Amino acid sequence: MNQGNREAKRSQMVEHQIQSRGVQDRLVLDAMRKVPRHLFVPDERVDSAYADRPLPIGCGQTISQPYMVAVMTEALALEGHENVLEIGTGSGYQAAILAEIADHVVSLERQPDLAGAAAETLKDLGYVNVEILVGDGSKGYPERAPYDGIVVTAGAPDMPHVLIEQLADGGRLVIPVGNSFHQTLTRVTRRGDAREIEKLEGCVFVPLIGEYGWKESEVE
Ligand code: SAH
Repeated sequence: MNQGNREAKRSQMVEHQIQSRGVQDRLVLDAMRKVPRHLFVPDERVDSAYADRPLPIGCGQTISQPYMVAVMTEALALEGHENVLEIGTGSGYQAAILAEIADHVVSLERQPDLAGAAAETLKDLGYVNVEILVGDGSKGYPERAPYDGIVVTAGAPDMPHVLIEQLADGGRLVIPVGNSFHQTLTRVTRRGDAREIEKLEGCVFVPLIGEYGWKESEVE
């Protein structure tokens, strides 16, 4: 498939899967039209790269459905100047979308093989404002806090309070919370010592495994 066809597929993806379901944020729609999603999936999945679903990326993990990436990014309400933390790098696709919009992105992945592959893809594409780190993201990454946005792309059993503590005043945490089969996408906005909690929509993510997530023995 040539470049033009892929651009056309991305426009269709944005129009039919994302705008049609209510995502309106220009920065999000533009980023999703631009980032070559097919470079973030394994070779044998390239033909499905723009399909309306998550896809396996190896190590038992998935690249999220395009619509879900759009919803989570829109929920962060980014304008361009932000310092953002992603937990669950996976393929690096969500990190690329964030890097298109925000000033700086730190993304944590617990599986070294996935982190290595994602870092390479992002480097090949020329992203210089993303740091991929290996570690347990359920604890966040206090070294670069405070964050204007934190997005967790794996399902947590409860809200990890340690992440809220790493938000800047006015910062947003977007996280799927629920059991290992079904979660509710939840947004927490920090306002001084108070926090505003909004439930956005139902979703299904692979589990967040770590100190403030699931224990490995509970889900594997
Ligand atoms: N955002 C990804 C999709 C991620 S799938 C993308 O765009 O492709 C969820 C990822 O979270 C998996 O790669 C999984 O290994 C990782 N993960 C699970 N628990 C984690 C933890 N505690 N810290 C960091 N990464 C974690």
